[in-house]
Amino acid sequence: MQHTDITIVGAGSAGLTLALLLAPLDLSITLIEQGPEPELTEPDFQRVSALNLASQRLLQQLHVWPGLSAHAAAYQHMSVWQADSFGRIDFSAAEQQLPALGWICDNEQIRQQLYQQVKGCHNVRCLFNSCIKKLTQSEREVVLQLSNDDLIFSRLLVAADGANSFIREQQKMPLLHWDYQHHAIVATLACDEAHQATARQVFWPDGPLALLPLADPQRVSIVWSVPPERAEQLLALSPEAFAQAVTAASQSVLGQLQLCSERRRIPLRMRYATEWVQQRIVLVADAAHSIHPLAGQGMNLGLMDVAALAELIANQLEAGQSIDQPQMLQQYQRWRKSEAQSLILAMEAFKRGFSGGLPLPKFLRAVGMNALNKQPALKQKMMALALGNAGDLPKRVQLSASAASEFAAPSA
Ligand SMILES: Cc1cc2nc3c(=O)[nH]c(=O)nc-3n(C[C@H](O)[C@H](O)[C@H](O)COP(=O)(O)OP(=O)(O)OC[C@H]3O[C@@H](n4cnc5c(N)ncnc54)[C@H](O)[C@@H]3O)c2cc1C
Repeated sequence: MQHTDITIVGAGSAGLTLALLLAPLDLSITLIEQGPEPELTEPDFQRVSALNLASQRLLQQLHVWPGLSAHAAAYQHMSVWQADSFGRIDFSAAEQQLPALGWICDNEQIRQQLYQQVKGCHNVRCLFNSCIKKLTQSEREVVLQLSNDDLIFSRLLVAADGANSFIREQQKMPLLHWDYQHHAIVATLACDEAHQATARQVFWPDGPLALLPLADPQRVSIVWSVPPERAEQLLALSPEAFAQAVTAASQSVLGQLQLCSERRRIPLRMRYATEWVQQRIVLVADAAHSIHPLAGQGMNLGLMDVAALAELIANQLEAGQSIDQPQMLQQYQRWRKSEAQSLILAMEAFKRGFSGGLPLPKFLRAVGMNALNKQPALKQKMMALALGNAGDLPKRVQLSASAASEFAAPSA
């Protein structure tokens, strides 16, 4: 039997980051993960995420960035275009007066580097290969019974156990969800022409293809979102025919491509928990929301959830208040729900706005994209939000006031 202040379920990017954020506080933390302890390995770039500037600032503060940046690829440019029209929009770090627009990182490396820091925290107890058998909640605590029959009593339980959250389901926390009617195919490809540190996304009527630059100037990671039956066909192709299909879908922007990894398929669903707090249980990151990867924002959003929760918990302790105070948990819920809702709506608008091949909507989309491309001030505002340089951010990741005002002044 064990008593702990906060139990975090799930050692993904969100759970590990939260453990690190809470570690400096006067709290005991238990982290429970069903999988094995992450070991340092060379990245294989099977799954990658585009981290924005706010996430990078957070990982920098947590001393995770130096290890991670060794294999991360900074991208300086972003090009988005419509495959079958003249619509196009380009962004560049130089135009935004920034060192980079973001970084492409290997997902497993993110976990490994986070865990390297968590390992050194004396007040964080990590239980790997641990399954939860039973969860009960009383007015005073949450009790977890593990599969080895150990009991853990906590004042607060944070569910960071991913999109299919066991905790959310066990507690019957209501979930709004729909199928995006897309499966994402992810793979690594070698390209004839250097990617020039540019993240590219081409919109076809049936879904977008993203080409994300890796540290090797002639390798990209793709996320190709297509209807399920098309995904089936693409996976049935030989490696050569698949590479040919990606080359055609990318309009040969990087020349001929060659497949150099397995292909993985991930069905895409929107999930949004309508309640993020139930007494002493709190949902964060993918356990609370999962969105279409077309704007590469899911992990960034989750990292901001945990930074927000850690900030509110730290404020409570500083004010001599309890970490399980309902008002504080409600404040977290209000704050982060509103950020998640905005992104869910934006993803839906993007997905619907770019799908379909009818001539008039296609023409209007193209005109709109080109008009936006010629509006530096508007582009800068859009980018500031996507990069995590604007919005209702946790304090520790906000740009300093001077940097923010510099950022707000668009170059002519
Ligand atoms: C194709 C694709 C591309 C994406 N690209 C981007 C991108 O470019 N940028 C971006 O920001 N986001 C991106 N995302 C989103 C991003 O991958 C997720 O938002 C992020 O990985 C979620 O992290 P998490 O820690 O919440 O959940 P997870 O990474 O799913 O971690 C959950 C952890 O909980 C553990 N767990 C689960 N159940 C239990 C249990 N019962 N007990 C104990 N442990 C448990 C799991 O083993 C796992 O370790 C993409 C998503 C997809 C599908």
